[in-house]
Amino acid sequence: MTGKKTAEVVVIGGGVVGSAVTYFLARNNLDVILLEKGAIASGTSGRCEGDVLVCDKEPGFDCRLAKLSLDLFPQIASELDYDIGWTQKGSLLAIENEEEMEAARKFCMQLAAEGLPVRILDRNEVLEIEPNLAKDIVGGLETGCDGSLYPMGLAYGLLSDAKKRGAQILTHNPVVDIKRDSNGNIQKVIARNGDIITRRVVNAAGVWAPAIGKMVGLNIPIKPRQGQMLVSERTFPVARRKVMEFGYMMAKFGGGSYARRVSPEMEEFGIALVFEPTEAQNFLIGSSRRFVGMDTSCDIRVLRAIAERAIRFFPAIRDINIIRSYAGLRPYTPDHLPIISKTEVPGFYVVAGHEGDGIGLSLITGKLITQMICGEPLDINTDPLRLSRFQEGENVLRKETKPTS
Ligand SMILES: Cc1cc2nc3c(=O)[nH]c(=O)nc-3n(C[C@H](O)[C@H](O)[C@H](O)COP(=O)(O)OP(=O)(O)OC[C@H]3O[C@@H](n4cnc5c(N)ncnc54)[C@H](O)[C@@H]3O)c2cc1C
Repeated sequence: MTGKKTAEVVVIGGGVVGSAVTYFLARNNLDVILLEKGAIASGTSGRCEGDVLVCDKEPGFDCRLAKLSLDLFPQIASELDYDIGWTQKGSLLAIENEEEMEAARKFCMQLAAEGLPVRILDRNEVLEIEPNLAKDIVGGLETGCDGSLYPMGLAYGLLSDAKKRGAQILTHNPVVDIKRDSNGNIQKVIARNGDIITRRVVNAAGVWAPAIGKMVGLNIPIKPRQGQMLVSERTFPVARRKVMEFGYMMAKFGGGSYARRVSPEMEEFGIALVFEPTEAQNFLIGSSRRFVGMDTSCDIRVLRAIAERAIRFFPAIRDINIIRSYAGLRPYTPDHLPIISKTEVPGFYVVAGHEGDGIGLSLITGKLITQMICGEPLDINTDPLRLSRFQEGENVLRKETKPTS
């Protein structure tokens, strides 16, 4: 980077969230520079799955935010000159017993009231559409609108479009500090390869967002929550769509006293079935949920438990080889909602903390923060997403987690 640089907005972080922000800002004709410390999508966005889901969202605000984002994907995917692998085959929550079925019926009605295309299937109907599921599954909850894509492709596609509109993407260039003037306004961003003069910064640094927040004296309560995944060899089509287990959502997200019949290790590692067939004819299985700091190494005990859970639902995969495993760090917030917010520091915005939903929520995040920066009306009231909710002690703990991703 040579010479003095200036920008109307500097975006820090080149994951899917920062890429979506850069895309929308550039589309609104703002002069934007994105700074990424490594390669594009080298953080969590390169170590995840690509589901764009509404089926696992809490009815109400959570669900509406996810649907707003989902609805942006078909159009944007068709406009990008990069194949992001967008498909919209829907998803299935597998139901293991009658107790789960009763809860699933209620949940289905709530999702239907949100306008989602959902229906309950009995065992025969489930086995007709997914014949490789275990024969003792009692039914399923099908969501017609859920989609999937290649997360790294999404980041590349959005940034390629943003570049054509004048955005500058500076990779391998970590931000080391942010300087403010005596009134607290942002003056410049100091990056390893040079300074950038700017009045506005968007912190899209995922699990590193707290470190960027510290540069301007803000406390951002995001913690890394590790998730491990397995990738199979190419094989016969085991399932046609995303399949997850309803029971985990019920035990953890629905509250109450429901306990799944799983091993102590599965409880300890937060294992829930996530099965994702890919266009390349292999499949991904996951996932786990653990707080182990910034550790992205895989643990054989966790991988074994993930595989056992997947075999319980898909006995036919028992002899299929696993070719790869990986772990990523979900940017977790105490109430499981992302932060999409201006802050008490003039010109400093935060878009981070999407936990297991950052791929799905990336587009609405980019759109909302751009609306905020440009002073346009917002697509949805972002009050529940403001950073200050944590300082005000309003972060009433919502249900522990969601089963997906
Ligand atoms: C196993 C697993 C499965 C998942 N599956 C799904 C799924 O199916 N659907 C879904 O919606 N979500 C899923 N998620 C969650 C999703 O991956 C994340 O929410 C999302 O990737 C977060 O994106 P991000 O852009 O906020 O963060 P990141 O992708 O981590 O991007 C942040 C970027 O900031 C950069 N950075 C950090 N510090 C600096 C600095 N000082 N200067 C410059 N750059 C910096 C980092 O290098 C990084 O590239 C999954 C997560 C995991 C772990």
